[in-house]
Order: sequence, then C-alpha cells, then structure tokens
Amino acid sequence: MIMFELFDCDEQGSATADITRASLVDTEDRLGIMLDAMPIGVLIHSQHAVLYANAGACSLLGEERNSLIGKHILDFQRSDSDPLAFDKAFDALGTTMDQEIVLVNSHTGQERLMKVIMGRLPWDGLAVVQVLLQDITDQKRAENSLRKLSITDELTGAYNRRHAFYEAGLYMERSDREASPFSVALLDIDHFKYVNDTYGHAVGDEVLKTFTQRGHRFLATSNMDSAIFARIGGEEFLILAPGHNLASAAKMAETFRQRLAGTPVETAKGPLSVTASIGVAERRWDDSSFDTILNRADDALYEAKESGRNRVVAVAA
Ligand code: GH3
Ligand code: MG
Ligand code: MG
Repeated sequence: MIMFELFDCDEQGSATADITRASLVDTEDRLGIMLDAMPIGVLIHSQHAVLYANAGACSLLGEERNSLIGKHILDFQRSDSDPLAFDKAFDALGTTMDQEIVLVNSHTGQERLMKVIMGRLPWDGLAVVQVLLQDITDQKRAENSLRKLSITDELTGAYNRRHAFYEAGLYMERSDREASPFSVALLDIDHFKYVNDTYGHAVGDEVLKTFTQRGHRFLATSNMDSAIFARIGGEEFLILAPGHNLASAAKMAETFRQRLAGTPVETAKGPLSVTASIGVAERRWDDSSFDTILNRADDALYEAKESGRNRVVAVAA
C-alpha cells in the first residue's frame, strides 16, 4: 500500500514536473503576451544594451523589437534634456528611481515626455535593470492647461487675483530672506464706466484686453521679467515688482502711465484714449501681511484719483 502510494506519488511527481515544465513554457509565453498587452513600455536593460523590449516600449520608441534589442535607452534621449541617471539604477537592489525626460521616437521623430521608472532586477549573472516607460505628454499638457486656467483671468489672460496674492506671499518671504526691496503698483482705469456706457460692454472688454497686452509687453521690455501683472478686479490691476524700491517702482509706473496715455486703444468703435491712475507702495520691514502694503497702495491710488486721475502717487515708506 505504502509502495503503491510511493509509486503513485512518483508517478504523480513526474506528472507534476511535466505540468510544471509545460506551465513554465506556457508562463513565459503568457508573460510575454501580458507584457506586450501592458499600456506602458517595459525594457530589460544591461549596462550596455536593451536585452528585452515589450510591444509598448517598441511603439513608444518607434523601433521594431529586433532593432531595439542591442540599442541603449540613452540613444533615444533628446540631447538637450536633463540626462537620465541610468547608471544609478544599477546601484541598489530593491529601490526604484523615476525621472521625467524627453525621448525621441525614432520612427516619427516626435518628442514625448516620459516618466522613466528604473530598478535593478535581482538576477544572477549580468546586472540588469528594468526600465518602465510611461508617456505622460498628454497628461502634462492637460495639467498645464488646467493650471493656466486656475491662475489666469479668462477675459484678459492676466494672472488672476488669487495667483497674484499667492505670488505676493512668496515675494514677501523672498524680500525677508534676501533683505531686498519689494514694491507694488495698483492700477485703476479712469472713467471706465463711461467707456462701457458710451461704447458698450464689448468695447470695454476690448480695452481691458489691450490694457493687459500693454502691461505684459511693458514688463517684458523693461527688464522686469520676475514682475507679475494681474487683474484683481473689474478694471483694477496689480503689478508686483520684486527687487524694486519705491522710487524705481514709481518710475516704472510713470513710464507705463505715459505710454498708455500716449497711444489710443484701437477698438471696434474707433481709437479710444485710455488713462489709468496708479498708486505705488513699497514693502516696509514691519509689514507682516501683503494686505497692509496693498492698503497703502490703495490709499495712494485714491489720492491719484482725487487729485485729478491719469497720474502716479507713491506713498513714502
Ligand atoms: P474711476 O475713474 O473713478 O475709476 O471711474 P470708473 O468709471 O473707472 O470706476 P467705476 O468703479 O465707477 O466703474 C468700473 C466699471 O467697470 C463698472 C463695471 O461695470 C465695469 N466692469 C467691471 N468688470 C468689467 C468687465 O469685465 N468688462 C467690462 N466691459 N466692464 C467691466
Ligand atoms: Mg475701480
Ligand atoms: Mg476705474
């Protein structure tokens, strides 16, 4: 009985081994099929070359499988992008590293932003890493356009109030850290209600858009690259001018005021003369919040309006 059982067991053992062998072959095929069906690229890579590539990797890199094997992932990297830290992936077992880099598809020449995840595989013999490639170009584009929507004003394309206040907080921190000046200019278009009432709301909108374009152009051509131009209300705008003290911010505001007043705005109802009043304030060392600076700029703006409009008033710190 025992013998029989043993014999049976042996029989079973050899049958099991066959099944295992068969299933291993099957598993290899299945694994290949599974890897090919994955929506990401998978490479097994030695220090010198690709040893295995799934269908996803072939399609992302624009190569036939046979031609991809033997090449190197670094061959596909756009020359001016941050180098892929490929060699580092061989350093440690059990950890993965990821990086976002631009890879060029050999077939189409198209550049795609990829998330590259690399990890050393615990295999004997030749050191190999697994390289996973995920195309994040569309995701990044969507993220960027969502971000742009969330920080800009829809009508004019200027930064919105929320973003301006967020940036203002950062600029205040920076001015603390670096003991550097930080000034703001609050701009309000003069008699804007008259524009709307006389020429219509659509022309008012055109004026707001052109005003913004001129604001952007002015900052771009005045060496004020880190300045922020924002629409913080109907016809109220704000310039954040890090690195500028009161005198230099007032000078910048005066130049902008003159340019604005000197060139009529082209609209569907003909050229319109548009002016703005501007209040300027500089951050004081005891200002703990942005609101206190803004209040001073608002007082200065009020004075500019009261004293005749189309002028700049700067409050001494
Ligand atoms: P002041 O010189 O004192 O600044 O006078 P003002 O007429 O510019 O100021 P007021 O605050 O009386 O009018 C602002 C107007 O801006 C009223 C409002 O209808 C208009 N406005 C606000 N947002 C928009 C917008 O998005 N488009 C248009 N066309 N008008 C807007
Ligand atoms: Mg106003
Ligand atoms: Mg106004």
